[in-house]
Parts: sequence; C-alpha cells; structure tokens
Amino acid sequence: MALHCRILGQPFADNALFLKVDTGQKQFRLLFDCGENTINNLSLSEIQKTDHLFFSHFHLDHVAGFDHFIRANYDRANKPVHIWGPKDTAKIIFHRLNSFTWNLTQGIESKWLIHEIQPQKIITFQLSAKNGFSRKRKIRESAFSQTVFSDEAFKVSVRFLEHKIPVLGFKTEEAPKLKINELLLNADNLKPGEWLGLLKDTSLKDSDEIEVLGIKRNLGELRQKLLFRKPGESAAYLTDFYLTRDNASLTEWLRGCDYLFCESQYLERERALAEKNCHLTAEFAARLAKKSGVKKLILFHFSKRYVATGVLPFLNEAKSVFEQSFLPEGWL
Ligand SMILES: [Zn+2]
Ligand SMILES: [Zn+2]
Repeated sequence: MALHCRILGQPFADNALFLKVDTGQKQFRLLFDCGENTINNLSLSEIQKTDHLFFSHFHLDHVAGFDHFIRANYDRANKPVHIWGPKDTAKIIFHRLNSFTWNLTQGIESKWLIHEIQPQKIITFQLSAKNGFSRKRKIRESAFSQTVFSDEAFKVSVRFLEHKIPVLGFKTEEAPKLKINELLLNADNLKPGEWLGLLKDTSLKDSDEIEVLGIKRNLGELRQKLLFRKPGESAAYLTDFYLTRDNASLTEWLRGCDYLFCESQYLERERALAEKNCHLTAEFAARLAKKSGVKKLILFHFSKRYVATGVLPFLNEAKSVFEQSFLPEGWL
C-alpha cells in the first residue's frame, strides 16, 4: 500500500494535488483543487478515473481548470463523480454545468454527487447528464463529522481554515494494514505457509479453528498473537489560509503526517502582505510543519510576484526552520 502524491501545475502559476491510493489490489484517485492548466498534465484516462475532486474554496486560481474536468467526466456512467467543497459548492457547480448546452446527453446515466461541507452539516446533491444537469436534487443531509469520507482503503478528514472566507484543508489517511509479526512467528517455531493467509481472511471468525502444521489451532488466539496493525501513509493538503494564534488543534490534527503539502504564497520579507491577504510565508509553513511533527513538508502555490526571484528562496527559507522541506518534483 502506498500514497502517490503529485503537485500539478508550475511554480508561480495555479497548482493542484493529485493523489493516488494504491492498495495493491485497487487504486483510488483523488484530486485537490483544479486550477488553470493543472490537470492537463494528467492523461485523459487518469482524469476519467478520478474518484473524488475536493475543492478547498472557489477563488479562480483553484477552479479555472474545472471545465477540462467536466469535459472528461460529464458522461461518466461507470462510477459516480464525487465533488466536495465548502458551503455553496452545489450552487457553484450547478451554475458552471448549466453554462453549457446539453441537448445531446439525454439518456446518459452519469451521476454527479456534490457534497457541501459546512461546520454543522454535510449536504449531498445529485445531478446528472441525462437531464442536462438541469436539476439539483438534495439527497442527503448529515451532521458534520471531521471524517467526511471513509472506506476500506482510506479516509479523508477536513479542517476549516481562515482565509477571510472558510477554506477546507484536507487530510488523506490510508487504512492501517494487517501484518504478520515475523519475530513472533520464528520464536514460536511456526513455519510460514498458506495458513498465514487465513489469519487475515475476514470471512473466518475468531472462534474458528485452522490447521497449522498438522495441529488444530484457535484462529482468534493466533490472530491476537501474530497480527498487528501497521498504520498507512497520510498526506495533508492545506492552501490559502493564515494561521490564527490558536492553532493547537490544527497541529494536533497534522501530528505525524507523512506529507504536508502546504501553500507559501509569500516569503517572510512580505509577511505583512501575507497577513493582509490571509496567506502563509514559507517560514510560517515550515513552523507549522515543525510544530506538527510531520515527516516531510512540500511547498507550493507561490505568488507570481516572485517569478524573477525563483523558487530557491522559498526552499531555503523553509529549510532554515524545518530541514525536511522540499519543492514539488521538477520545480528546481
Ligand atoms: Zn489560491
Ligand atoms: Zn484563495
């Protein structure tokens, strides 16, 4: 199992994060934001297989590539298109879809599920190409919980961030994987064999007995003794926000994360401007990474004002605070 993360787009231009969860048997594709010329770097098939698109907010630099996504997925019938975002997401997506003419899509059973994440509740609406995206039907409303999506392979949780408007920060965590403790196996003189696979077989109950090297053994006891849960990888995507004084709950939420993808619109010398526009500096992003104990910080979303300055000052500024700071692949 692994998380494959890729920042899309160029430095000093719009960015997005493409994340693939690979369980070994299945792959899930998640896209975080969809700025201009970001998903152009993905193959059409990757865009069409994207399971979830998460919007942090709807400032133009995070949504300007969305038409490309619509074009690739409006007629997707094999699995639903899930779109997540803050309050008013359904209204915005509905209007965007309705800015095109859809007289040729009757009968196409595509299912678009739009999930609005609000501080108190999550509301889901359904749209479809078969009626030209002309109806926005509310199908579900549930109380807000920090984990907005969860299945057997991964879960996604959310934090509300401050950017003069609510912005969503996302954290993806792979499900823990059951592993065999090899040391205990050896200590017990138990030879590996097909029986080890039965320990992880969820169709078998703890009370069942299995044959191990000719001897009947209780499955529950073997599981308790030999299996342990190895945590999966985790990646957080935080963009367009400013840290308020009390960010203890944010740092706790990020604690131990493998990858923190964090915006740094500004360098520390423009700190006043960063505060005014509710963005972070590279140094501030690095302080957050250090305080949270994440394993790696990857900086992105640099202001165009620094085109002549280049990307290195961002990396150097962050590294002076947090050594495990990096730039997205190909940016250096
Ligand atoms: Zn932005
Ligand atoms: Zn913004």
